[in-house]
This record gives sequence, C-alpha cells and structure tokens, in this order.
Amino acid sequence: MKNASSVVKAAGLLLFHLIPLALIWTGTTGRNWAAFGATYVLAMLTVAGGLHRYFSHRSFRTSRAFQFLMALMAGCIFGDAVEFSAEHRWHHRHSDSERDFHSPKLGIWQSWIGHIIDNPLTEEEMLRMTPDLACYPELVWLHRYWIVPGVVTAALFLTLGGYRMFACAYCLGILATLHGVSAVNYFCHTGRSCNFETRDRSSNSFILAVLIMGEGWHNNHHQYPSAARAGIKWYEIDMIYWLIKALSWIGVVWSVRDVPESAKAALGKRSAEASLA
Ligand SMILES: [Zn+2]
Ligand SMILES: [Zn+2]
Repeated sequence: MKNASSVVKAAGLLLFHLIPLALIWTGTTGRNWAAFGATYVLAMLTVAGGLHRYFSHRSFRTSRAFQFLMALMAGCIFGDAVEFSAEHRWHHRHSDSERDFHSPKLGIWQSWIGHIIDNPLTEEEMLRMTPDLACYPELVWLHRYWIVPGVVTAALFLTLGGYRMFACAYCLGILATLHGVSAVNYFCHTGRSCNFETRDRSSNSFILAVLIMGEGWHNNHHQYPSAARAGIKWYEIDMIYWLIKALSWIGVVWSVRDVPESAKAALGKRSAEASLA
C-alpha cells in the first residue's frame, strides 16, 4: 500500500464488512430494511448520477450549489468527486490495456476491491486529470478531507438510530452500492452482450442494469461516454437517466447530453430486424 490513505481505506472496508455480522445475533426490523433500501437508492443515485455521469463525464450541467450538494452526498458515503473522476477518466482512456488499473485482466481482486484501496494515481496526477473540478475550492476541500463527511454521517446513524440501524442501513447500504459498482467493473468487461464494437472489452448486462439503475449498459456507455443516457434501446431501462431528465424538467440540471439520433435509429432498426428474423 502506497500511503496512509490506503491503510485507512483498507481498514474501513474491513470494518464495513465485519460490523453487520453481529446482526445475525441482534436481529433486524422492517424499519432497518426500509432504511437500507432508502440508503442504497440514494447512494446509487449519488455514485451513478453524481460521481459517474456528472463529475466524471460532465454529461449535464447544473448550478454550483447542486454540484456541491452532489459532492457532499458522495462524501457522506466516503466518495470523493476528484479521486473518483480522475480514476474513472483514466479507465476510459486506457480501458482494458495494461494501464487500466481495474481491468478484469488484472484479476478479480484488483478489479473489484484492490483499485479502491490502492489508487495508483498520485495527488498531482489526480488534480491534473480533473482541472474542471479542482478549480472549485469546495470540491478540493472535500477531496482533501474525504473522511470527514463520511465519519460524521456514520456517527449520526449510530447516535440517532443505534447499532442495528447503523449496521443495516448505513454499512450494508454502502456495501451494496460499492459491490454493485465493482460488479460493473468486472462483469461488464468480461461479458459478451454488445451493441457496439468498441476498442475495449466493454459489454452490457441487463441484470446489472436493473440492479444498479442503468449502469449495466456499459458497452453503450463506452461508445458514448459523454451522454447522460446509457440505455438506448426501448427496453434498456436506465433509471439514472430518467432521474436526470426529471431534474431537467424542473430546472435543477440542464444541457443534458444524449446519444446521437442516428445511433438510436440504427439500434432500433437492428432490433426490429432481429425480431423478424
Ligand atoms: Zn468500463
Ligand atoms: Zn464512465
């Protein structure tokens, strides 16, 4: 491990997996699981809609206040807009080459967990790769002190909700989000279902798209990374995109980038031909 931050991340991840184990003896309530569901949905919206589609790809525009809110929500689950975006932009630039540090070619551990603990990018590289984010002092603060909002949120869950609420809603909610995203890193670069012939090994997964709200249309996403939409065909459900569109209707976000109409038409035609064949 290259620095203290990696040690903290490794210890934190281990704790997040160990803490919920005691639920086996304490039991859980319906309220705990309802809170787990709410945390999971909110955390996934934050990671997929905020960290991925907004901060990493700038697929829509918004106000500085809403941008800060998304970064703060990410911070509450130990997410960091600058680090996530730098790492993710690196992934798109070097997908499935030897420089892609969460490619399945490096093994399931590195693809799933290892890259989270040991981000090989230096601080200078991360800031250099995110000049559009590093120009905001509040985002740089959340990047430098990434642990603060997460620890405060965890303390609030524990103090106000008690052990069972903390372990079930917070720890398991965040773990489900983290493993969902890692499942895309791994399975959507080892699968076979593709709409486009990209230069990498990206693929689509209907199951992951349902479970993690549209992020499973990863081959579509690698073809059009700057589009807010990942699901293109009519049945490619993409809840994150629907939410972004809904936010645009009420003026919270704007300039939502779509895939080219020609791509939608070509895929629609191919689907129709396939159903007739
Ligand atoms: Zn990818
Ligand atoms: Zn991406």
